[in-house]
Amino acid sequence: MIPPSFGYSAPRSLPEALQLLAKHGDDAKIFAGGHSLLPMMKLRFAEPGHLIDINRIAELKGIREEGGLIKIGAMTTENELIDSALLQQKLPLLPEAARQIADPQVRNRGTIGGDIAHGDPGNDHPAIAIALDAIFIVTGPNGKRSVAATDFFHGTYMTDLQADEILTEIHVKPFPAKTGSAYCKLKRKTGDWATAAAAVVLQMSGDVVSSARIALTNVAPTALDATAAAAALIGKPLSDATIKAAAEAAMAICDPAEDLRGDVAYKTAMAGEMTKRAIRLAASRCN
Ligand SMILES: Cc1cc2nc3c(=O)[nH]c(=O)nc-3n(C[C@H](O)[C@H](O)[C@H](O)COP(=O)(O)OP(=O)(O)OC[C@H]3O[C@@H](n4cnc5c(N)ncnc54)[C@H](O)[C@@H]3O)c2cc1C
Repeated sequence: MIPPSFGYSAPRSLPEALQLLAKHGDDAKIFAGGHSLLPMMKLRFAEPGHLIDINRIAELKGIREEGGLIKIGAMTTENELIDSALLQQKLPLLPEAARQIADPQVRNRGTIGGDIAHGDPGNDHPAIAIALDAIFIVTGPNGKRSVAATDFFHGTYMTDLQADEILTEIHVKPFPAKTGSAYCKLKRKTGDWATAAAAVVLQMSGDVVSSARIALTNVAPTALDATAAAAALIGKPLSDATIKAAAEAAMAICDPAEDLRGDVAYKTAMAGEMTKRAIRLAASRCN
C-alpha cells in the first residue's frame, strides 16, 4: 500500500519546527528516522496531513557530557549510540542495547528520540531509559519541560508528549565507578522486536547488591519499571535465591499480549529468564 498524499516541511531550526507544529496542529507528525512512522503510513494506520522532517535541525543531534550529565540529542541515530566512545565508557548499556535493535539499515536512520516518542512497548529504548533513570527534555510553545522516563509512557503508542511538543534531549547520569549493566533480549531472528527483554543496572558493595534498577520490554502495554524485582536484590548478597526472587517479581507484573512471538505464559517465563540472565551479566561487570 502507499500512503495518502501529505504535505512536507523540512525546518532548519527548533523554533521553526515548533511554529509548523502549532500551525498544522493534530494533522502534523514529526518525521525523524521514519522507520516506524512510514510503515504505519503505508498501512494507513497513520494518515498525517503534514510531515515535519526534523533531520536538518543540527541542535537535535549529538552526544555530549555537560554539568554532570550525558545529554543525547533526540535525533541521534542507533549507529551513533553504538559508535560513541563517551557512551561506551560512561553508559555502556546504551550501545549494548542499540546493537540489538532492528538491523543495520534501520540503525542507520532510526533515532533514539523516535524510538521513545513512538510509545511502542516493543521498542527497546523505553525500558533502557527507565533502567537508566533518564530524564526526557520536551520542548513546546511555552519552552522546555522535563519528564522522568518512569512517568513518560502512558499506554501503547501513548506518551506524555503533547501534539505541539518535540522530544529534544535525553539526559542520563553517567554510571558511577563499579556499576554493572546488561540488556538481555530474546528475539526470534535478527531484526525482530523482543519476545521479552530485561535491562539491569547494578552496583555491588562486596557481595551485597547496594543498588539495582530493572526494566522490561514488550511484556505489557508499556515498558515496565520492575521495582519489586530490584527490591528483591537490594541489601542482600547476590545468590541463586535472590536472583530467582527477582525474576519471580518481574514475572508477576508482566501482562503481555499473545501474538506470533508466543502466548502469555511463554512471554512471561521469558521475561523471567531474561531478568535472571541480565542480573548475572550485570553483576559480572561490576568491577
Ligand atoms: C524492520 C524493523 C525492525 C525494527 N526492530 C526494532 C527493534 O528491535 N527494537 C526497537 O526498539 N525498534 C525497532 N524498530 C523501530 C525503529 O527502531 C524505529 O526507528 C523507531 O521506532 C522510531 O524511530 P524513528 O527515528 O525512525 O522515528 P519515526 O518513525 O520518524 O517516528 C516515530 C514516531 O515518533 C514521532 N517522533 C519521532 N521523533 C520525535 C521527536 N523527537 N519528538 C516528538 N515526536 C517524535 C513521530 O511523529 C512518529 O509518530 C524496527 C523497525 C523496523 C522497520
